[in-house]
Amino acid sequence: MQDIPTYADVEAAAERLQGHAHRTPVMRSRTADALLGAQLFFKAENFQRMGAFKFRGAFNALSRFTPEQRKRGVITFSSGNHAQATALAARILEIPALIVMPEDAPAAKAAATRGYGAEVVTYNRYEANREELTSRLAAERGMTLIPPYDHADIIAGQGTAAKELFEEAGELDYFFVCLGGGGLLSGCALAARALAPNCKIYGVEPEAGDDGRQSLLKGERVKIEVPRTIADGAQTQELGELTFAILQRDVTAVVTATDAQLVEAMRFYAERMKMVVEPTGCLSFAGARHGGIDVRGARVGILISGGNVDLTRFAELVAGSSARLS
Ligand SMILES: *Cc1c(COP(=O)(O)O)cnc(C)c1O
Repeated sequence: MQDIPTYADVEAAAERLQGHAHRTPVMRSRTADALLGAQLFFKAENFQRMGAFKFRGAFNALSRFTPEQRKRGVITFSSGNHAQATALAARILEIPALIVMPEDAPAAKAAATRGYGAEVVTYNRYEANREELTSRLAAERGMTLIPPYDHADIIAGQGTAAKELFEEAGELDYFFVCLGGGGLLSGCALAARALAPNCKIYGVEPEAGDDGRQSLLKGERVKIEVPRTIADGAQTQELGELTFAILQRDVTAVVTATDAQLVEAMRFYAERMKMVVEPTGCLSFAGARHGGIDVRGARVGILISGGNVDLTRFAELVAGSSARLS
């Protein structure tokens, strides 16, 4: 296992990102505050470059490449936002990029990835092993693999979102973060440990894919089948080694949200806060609202992780057709 990154790595990442990533706004909503009886601070990474926090980790990782690595290029596997993030960071840093993507990835995400100039190879996510395919291609082309979450530079980069939130909002009592493979949550935990040591940190997963919750309860990584959920950014089967080690040490617990609760949050963000948030990005608010944690009277951070969703899909979901939820 690689060394576990520290808050110093998050600070170094913040310096590398300066002038490249947006410092995203921290949004407030009186309606949301009233709904939960708390003071909520929404860190809006749906306004990050390419529409999600993943630009932070990808840019941080790629900016550490040696000249030789830059020449040969980067390869990764991703169902969407890490692909776009890697493609954009690679374009900015003039590094060739090859992305291995499931063939059923959201159309907007695949198109955006190609649009940033990356080469895309597709596979069937219910049949093929993406790690094997990616390693083979990496070896053939001499490219450096930057995985979506289990990598120290990715974790440190994602943690810069929480660093900005704590710097702006001050101490928080609770912090809810969307959880897939755990890059975002573990990076945020590193920042919270340093800047708000009393803050209780919760990961929020789709109910259909609660491998993170099971893993923390069992004390070892639990692998599940590919979960069927509208939260396509959190369809991971297993936490990473590094991310699990940090989560075990620094995270209070993992709670879950149903697809219906995610849709409810999507509607809330659109109607009340005038924001388009993708289903996975709704996990944190849905978890704060329905996860069984009593946040009344508290100062609560909510990490909105991204806003990349096909508008047709968005319209279908918020129109409330429950037949289309799976
Ligand atoms: C990738 C992603 C997540 C999950 O992040 P992990 O680092 O894999 O836990 C959550 N929300 C969005 C929008 C994402 O793209």
